[in-house]
Amino acid sequence: MLVLKFGGTSVANAEAIRQLISIVGAKDASERKIVVVSAMSKVTDLLITLYQKASAHDPAYQEVIQTLETKHMQAIEELVPMSQQIEIKGKIKLILRELEDVTKGVYLLDELSDSTRARVMAYGELLSSALVSVALQHHGLPNVLLDSREYIQTDANFLNAKVNLKETYRRMQNQLPEASLMVAPGFISRSAEGKTTVLGRGGSDYTASLYAAAMQADLLEIWSDVDGMYTTDPRKAAAAYSIEELSYEEAMELAYFGAKVLYPPTIAPLVAAKIPLVLKNTFNPSHKGTLISATPAPSAQHVKGISCIDHMAVLTVSGSGMVGVPGVAMRLFKAVATENINIYFITQSSSEQSITLGLAEADGQKAVQAISQEFADDMAQGLLNPVSLETPMSIVALVGNGMIKQPGIAGKAFSLLGDNEINIRAIAQGATERIISVVLSTQDAHRAVNLLHDRFFLPVKETEEAFA
Ligand code: ADP
Ligand code: ASP
Ligand code: MG
Repeated sequence: MLVLKFGGTSVANAEAIRQLISIVGAKDASERKIVVVSAMSKVTDLLITLYQKASAHDPAYQEVIQTLETKHMQAIEELVPMSQQIEIKGKIKLILRELEDVTKGVYLLDELSDSTRARVMAYGELLSSALVSVALQHHGLPNVLLDSREYIQTDANFLNAKVNLKETYRRMQNQLPEASLMVAPGFISRSAEGKTTVLGRGGSDYTASLYAAAMQADLLEIWSDVDGMYTTDPRKAAAAYSIEELSYEEAMELAYFGAKVLYPPTIAPLVAAKIPLVLKNTFNPSHKGTLISATPAPSAQHVKGISCIDHMAVLTVSGSGMVGVPGVAMRLFKAVATENINIYFITQSSSEQSITLGLAEADGQKAVQAISQEFADDMAQGLLNPVSLETPMSIVALVGNGMIKQPGIAGKAFSLLGDNEINIRAIAQGATERIISVVLSTQDAHRAVNLLHDRFFLPVKETEEAFA
């Protein structure tokens, strides 16, 4: 079994879908395949605009539905022979009428719950999968269209649903059709109560890895618009280049700290089953891309990649009342966890006078409130200072298995930033030594990424090229 996932840009228009068809068509016909697709590029954002407009009583929501219709119809007209367009056009129209009904409800009733948001967002993948399935069919690749909601069961956290792996795998293993080629929408799932949920923005990668793990696939291929995982975000550093191989852990860290090309939860299901993952470029299919596996080829590179997440906040709790008092950290983390806030970064000063957390900027105020409430008495007594919150901050992370037990890397990174007058707000090194992360002001982040990239990657690239 082979699972192939195509992202938004890979199904953005007829031309991209033709590329997809040629990639799928070039595979060994005797191997069973599942093709997982994202919504067409920008469609999920359009769906968000759609429910926002409807809930704001803006009748212009209808124009958004019109835009969606035009986008999908145009692709059909270019991909499906004229005489056979009626059926698929009818199907797309039907899906859009359903979407219109849901949106009208939002417009009329002023009701916009997360459940409704998820329901609206799901239409992007429902539309694109129907389109891609028919396009493959008309290019000699008959297939069965699946509805991933029938298989992926989650909790009721509608927009960032947590998957019930056991039930999901059971359903996939027992209920998937026998077909040799299947097409499935990414991103969408269903709660145990039967309501549509979604797996978080970028979640189609995760859908594909769930199918791959359940079916013990030989390989998962994720097709996007870049030649794999780059040494750093190619939008931030022009010198970035594709990494040949990574371990699961390295890929997970890079993804978690901002490498958008891979949705962070994607790796976990693959690890237990040891399923390799290749990141490939739909628009440059002959490039090898990046292979992610349990046993990557040894590399001379200590640092394999640099990630950066923006829109972060740094929250600091400090005060003499923290010194030697057990349980402060526990209360702090509990207060934050109760609000369902994800912590990216923790450091504690050795004198125990302060604890610093890195979290998403959007969660900043909520975290401050939760912590201020938990420590209200301590603050009233002057044992703790008011919580401080700094934004906009970024986290820059150096990742590589080769950093383990390799002295000097952190020193090089910090002195480089210091020499360039970039102030490091906090530093953390994971106990595994696979990652060193620094928090700095967003206005310095771009420059920091480029300086670090030049320092750790350019010499290697130049040497490789000299010997090529
Ligand atoms: P898809 O729609 O195919 O899922 P995404 O937009 O989610 O694609 O991810 C691909 C994009 O991720 C690339 O176009 C690139 O700009 C961005 N990106 C950020 N960091 C990295 C990185 N380290 N390596 C490769 N791409 C990255
Ligand atoms: N369409 C969804 C999004 O834009 C999921 C995905 O593309 O992976 O977030
Ligand atoms: Mg993506």
